[in-house]
Amino acid sequence: MGKVIGIDLGTTNSVVSILETKNPGIILSPEGDRLLPSIIAFTKDGERLVGNPAKSQMITNPFNTVSSVKRLMGKRYSEIKPFLHQFSYNVVEGPDDTIKIKINEMVFAPEEISAMILHRLKESAENYLKTNVEDAIVTVPAYFNDSQRQATKDAAEIAGLKVLRVINEPTAASLAFSIDLKKKSNVVVYDFGGGTIDFSILEVDREIIKVLSTAGDTNLGGNDLDNLLSDLIVEEIDQQYNLDLSKNKLALQRIRDASEAAKKELSGLEACEINLPFIADSDDGPIHYLKYITRAEFENLINDKVDCTINICDLCLKNANLYPRDIDEVLLVGGSTRIPLVQKKVRAFFGKEPNKKVNPDEIVAIGAAIQGSIIIGERKDILLLDVTPLSLGVKTLGGIYTRVINANTTVPTSRSLVFSTAEDNQQEVEVIVFQGEREIAEENKLLGKFTLKGIQPAPRGVPRIEVNFNININGMLTVGAVDLSTKNKKEVVISNSGLLSEEEIKEIKSKAKRLKDIDLKKRDLISLKNKVINEKYQLEKFLEHPLINGDKDLRNECIETAGNVQPVLDREDDDEIRTFLGELITLNTGIGTFLKKTGANPELLRTKAKKSDTQPIEQKRDDTRPLKISG
Ligand code: AMP
Repeated sequence: MGKVIGIDLGTTNSVVSILETKNPGIILSPEGDRLLPSIIAFTKDGERLVGNPAKSQMITNPFNTVSSVKRLMGKRYSEIKPFLHQFSYNVVEGPDDTIKIKINEMVFAPEEISAMILHRLKESAENYLKTNVEDAIVTVPAYFNDSQRQATKDAAEIAGLKVLRVINEPTAASLAFSIDLKKKSNVVVYDFGGGTIDFSILEVDREIIKVLSTAGDTNLGGNDLDNLLSDLIVEEIDQQYNLDLSKNKLALQRIRDASEAAKKELSGLEACEINLPFIADSDDGPIHYLKYITRAEFENLINDKVDCTINICDLCLKNANLYPRDIDEVLLVGGSTRIPLVQKKVRAFFGKEPNKKVNPDEIVAIGAAIQGSIIIGERKDILLLDVTPLSLGVKTLGGIYTRVINANTTVPTSRSLVFSTAEDNQQEVEVIVFQGEREIAEENKLLGKFTLKGIQPAPRGVPRIEVNFNININGMLTVGAVDLSTKNKKEVVISNSGLLSEEEIKEIKSKAKRLKDIDLKKRDLISLKNKVINEKYQLEKFLEHPLINGDKDLRNECIETAGNVQPVLDREDDDEIRTFLGELITLNTGIGTFLKKTGANPELLRTKAKKSDTQPIEQKRDDTRPLKISG
């Protein structure tokens, strides 16, 4: 295998790195720059510009200049619709809620634009290495969902690159940083870039790097801080000149650029000037906007957003069952960590000075290059273990959510559970896959579903259907089901359809916490109902026995009790159901004892599912009956 390059495909800048003789290095662009701005532009003459040349003409050509395309990758149009005003170029709806970028008469998918950036990085590497480069490790935010990861892989493929692995940015950073750590350490990576905030907590023990937890928000980055300042400027211009520039894309682009420049200046200076001559025309002539802003004013503006990042960090620590004092090293990654307020808050939260040895812009790409060298066997001394951020499971009888893979499980991972049918002669089962932390399946995010057909007719609880969840090394999920007796199977790769957006992930986690007690109560009620249904099933089986059927009083009692089941369940009263369950169990036990005494073996009448101690599962469909877990 040839050389493998490591690529950090950033919202703002992208970087390509290669490992040579055990030392990773950044490959310079043909213009001699270490960072390639992730910007593509199309000139009037139809020429395509990539990187710095695209960036420098952005103000005069905002409609035909595409920046921050990473924010659109793997998303649905309906997801980004509320944020459309943040894009200077034309983002339109494609078929099936997809996103398209319209430049003049040309229409591009976000993947195609990303591919142009990746292609330039590939070219830089080939220029430098004087050979073809085909293999790459590409990094993504830890919180990128499956469809965002897939879109990134697709973009690389369009660019002529084979992605050997997609790895999480904080993990890559930690890999690069940790390689020389001598003692066992807990490392937190606080990665605050242009479009995203991403945390990972890792345990580094010499050659093994284990991700303990990850958290983040792919809609919170340096761009949002620029937007806060831009919004303020637009508001001030509106107040001073009674002129609303919020729809004026050309003026907005200049305001955004000036805001970003001021933000950066304020990382080094206590105050700066924002100067926007001829920003717009009014009835009284051209408007020249000038603002003097201090660092304190800017910090006041961004304070809440920075606090948000610390809250996510806190959540990430809790997920790893750690306290700030347990962290040995704090790594700052991403351009936005140059902001003094960010550094101050991180320092205060962890009670220690963040590590300053690494270059926040380059460490992710370097980590990716190191990962590449591990994969092709150049480095055999490190093992990298990543985690899945949310639990994954299936809907079980009564609508309960049964987790198959728990949140923060190290990936790659694979786990199987055996299910069974819930009704006699059930010939198909539907596996409904959810992601989330709530106890009730429907409260979580539906990822996909499929039906396994051809189950041989058998009493309920007898067929054994193994459902397997497999998360591969790139964090992608495949769910399969196999009927263990016929070996008949079905498998689906859970992709693009309906995965969670980052906001949803954040919301889901906090909602799950808030509603835990209510959910558990609901779950208990469902379990109770399931037990009643099981007992009723047993009672009906007993009724088939001639000794019971032949005894008029007993038969009537059984029929009457069975007839009471549905009304009792429908009233949804825990206490009543519990009492009724007690009565049912007493009746069934009594009948069982009676049958035993007469020489009949009541156990023969019991179903396998009844004997097992696993919980039943349900799939709500018109023609599909509930399933049971049987092992
Ligand atoms: P990245 O995605 O890591 O390339 O980070 C890019 C983000 O970092 C952009 O939002 C930049 O505006 C921001 N950034 C870069 N340098 C600075 C700086 N000196 N002060 C504040 N923000 C910065």
